[in-house]
This record gives sequence, structure tokens and C-alpha cells, in this order.
Amino acid sequence: MNSEKVTAADQVEPSKTARMLEVEILRYDPDQDEAPYYQVYQVPCQEEWVVLDAVNYIKDKLDRTLSYRWSCHMAVCGSCGMMVNGEPTLSCHAFIRDLPDRIKIEPLENFPVARDLIVEMDSFVEKLSSVKPYINAAIEKTPEEGTYTQLPQQLQDFQLYTQCINCLLCYSACPQFALNEDFVGPAALALAHRYNLDSRDRGRSVREDVVASNLGVWECSFVGACSEVCPKHVDPAAAIQQSKIAATGDYFMRFLTPWKKTTKGQKSSKEIHDEASKR
Ligand code: SF4
Repeated sequence: MNSEKVTAADQVEPSKTARMLEVEILRYDPDQDEAPYYQVYQVPCQEEWVVLDAVNYIKDKLDRTLSYRWSCHMAVCGSCGMMVNGEPTLSCHAFIRDLPDRIKIEPLENFPVARDLIVEMDSFVEKLSSVKPYINAAIEKTPEEGTYTQLPQQLQDFQLYTQCINCLLCYSACPQFALNEDFVGPAALALAHRYNLDSRDRGRSVREDVVASNLGVWECSFVGACSEVCPKHVDPAAAIQQSKIAATGDYFMRFLTPWKKTTKGQKSSKEIHDEASKR
């Protein structure tokens, strides 16, 4: 956390205080505390403040020991996710005026706590990496053959899934991830789907071992909480269900067309997806 940044909390004027907010925060420093505990702060808030402004006020004016992540303050970096009154929330995206006079802030659920509101993200980063989230096995082009082109319609096929900011809210809301931390999970699977739908990509088969595994899309029970909490409207639940349809199509195609080459990287992900959708 960069405490040198100018925040709304730095600019508060007592005369402009719209309301006093009671903020209860779960505190825990594994190096010092035997167990987590709650600490309550009184925060003078202005009308336009979001939850992150109140947390910044606490850090800057009341308690320098509070630890949390934030950076952009505009729902782009994805780092300020917290539980606010039990709901996974991007704290820069939640206005104080929409909340009651007392709020409870806790670290995102379903992740180990590193300190106070900071959770460990290592397992998530490994999952993201496991789905190979980049253009894979694209057809090689020489400079003379020109650049890759993509029609607006082709971009539209996956654009929704490019909006993810890796905020982890969907993992915190997911009941399946709560039961099984090895579940690849909503954001990583949505990102895999994004690349599988990209007309330039030929890497669907190299993602299949992870995406179409029991810990991949088949672990999802389609509760849909991930899509409900997503601040960027990515709709990972839809991505996962579409991936299930495509994976089922692949499975049956192997029986129906056993003579077909199944060499990895031979077919456009878009072509395979379209085929599966038509069936
Ligand atoms: S899919 Fe949505 S909720 Fe999940 S990490 Fe991406 S932006 Fe956050």
C-alpha cells in the first residue's frame, strides 16, 4: 500500500462531513496475534466517499498499522477487494451512501490471510498460468504475409471475457471453491474461454487438460454467484457453461469421428466451439 498517494481521505474537511460511519475491521497479524480480532473505528465520511476512502482515512489518520491492498481507485487494478458486510466487494466501487451506519470489513473469503485485509494470491496466479492465457500455437506468419486481422464480430465473441481485473471477488463468492480450493475457478476458466474463442488462437487443445478436467469446468455447479459479484460484468458462469458444451461436443466427436486427426493445435478454437454450439 502506497500511503503517499493523495486520497479522498486526505482532503476531508470536518464541515463537509456527511455522516459518521462505524467501521469494524477484522485484524490479524500472524506474526503477533494468536487469533484474529475485530477493531472498530469512527470515520467522518463525505457524501461521495466509497468504502476505500473510509479505509484510507483509517490508515492515514487513525491507525497506521492497518494493512490492505489498493492502487488505482477506479475499478481497474482489481486489488482492493474485501468482504463488506459479508459480500465480496471492490471497495473503490462501493459508495458509503448505499451502506448502513455501521459496516463490517473482512478479508476476502476462501483465501489464506497474509495480514489484516491482505490475502495470499499465489494459488490463483498458478491457476491463471495453468490455462495458458495467451495466444497459443497461432499460425506462423512471415512479415511478407502481413499482420493478423480480426473482424469486429470475431472480437465481439470474446470481448466480454477480456474485462477481468483479477480482483478475486468471484472466487470469494464461489461455493464450490469454498469446498475445494483446487477448483480452477471462475476467473481462470473465463480467461481460458476468452482465448479459446479468439480467432487467432489455436491452443484450445493444450488448455483442455485443465479446462475440461474434474477440477476445471466440471467442478462448477452453476450457482452463478461469480457472475453476480463481478464488478466488471465478465459473467464467468456463462463462460464455464459454454466451455462445458464445447467439452461435451469434443467428447462425442471423438467417438463419432475416430478417423479424424486429434493432433494438438490442428483446429481453430472458434471452429470447434461453433461446431459444438450448432449440435
Ligand atoms: S471474473 Fe470478475 S469477479 Fe472474477 S476476478 Fe475477474 S473481474 Fe473479478
